[in-house]
Parts: sequence; C-alpha cells; structure tokens
Amino acid sequence: MENTKKQIPIEEGLFYIPSSPDEKPYLIGTKCKVCGLSVFPKTPVCPKCMKKDTMEEALLIGKGKLDSFSIVQAALPGFKAPSIQAYINLEKGPRIWSLVTGCDPSEEALKPGMDMEMVIAKVREDDQGNEIISYQFKPAGKVKI
Ligand SMILES: [Zn+2]
Repeated sequence: MENTKKQIPIEEGLFYIPSSPDEKPYLIGTKCKVCGLSVFPKTPVCPKCMKKDTMEEALLIGKGKLDSFSIVQAALPGFKAPSIQAYINLEKGPRIWSLVTGCDPSEEALKPGMDMEMVIAKVREDDQGNEIISYQFKPAGKVKI
C-alpha cells in the first residue's frame, strides 16, 4: 500500500502552486477593470467602485516589502508558536496579511521595509499526517524553505 502524505491547500483558490521548480507561486486575487485596484483574497465587489461585475481574477506576484509585524506567542489551533504574523505591501498590489517563515521569531530578525518573497510552505498537519500548506512570506534571498 502506498503511504504518501498529501499536501493540502489550507483554502482552495487562495494561491497557485507551481508545477515545476522554475515556476513561481502566485497569490490569486481580484483586480477591478474600472479603477485597477487589486484585492486579496478574492472579492466579488470592488471596495472602491462598489459596483457589480467590475472584478476579474488576477494573479499577484509574491514579492513585496514588510510593512509591520508581530511575534505571536500564543499558538493558533494546530500551528506552532511563537509565530510571526505580518502585513506585506505587495509590489504590484494590496497590503496583505501573512505568516512569516525562514527566520527567527525575534524583533531583530525583521525590519519594516525589507524585501520579502512568498513561499508555499506547511503550516500544520492534519490527523492523517497530511501537510496543510499555505502561502507564507520569508525575507528575500535568504535560505530556501
Ligand atoms: Zn474599482
């Protein structure tokens, strides 16, 4: 019997997982055809225009700058603690919430304004030992996750 642990996205339609190592992962958001505003996660109505049918799906490149962050000592159910939760200003898009990985959970490891890049990484395991994966951001150019 094959005993392969699966990787399961934490939520469908949140991000695009590359099928080869040469491809980059993307976040899946929406962009307004009228005013050009990008929103992540996807939303059916543009928060600026407030009209129907102006939003279309858009792939957002997982690169940006760290806005603010906090070290969270309490573990969310199934997550490891401490964790780093941050807001990232995407290069061509909105400010988004993300977990941060690839560095120590300390105030010294991160600086607002530093370059961050997105990775798809495990956030926890389910009861069968499958990996629940999600988008996360790490300091750009540092160790590969
Ligand atoms: Zn709009």
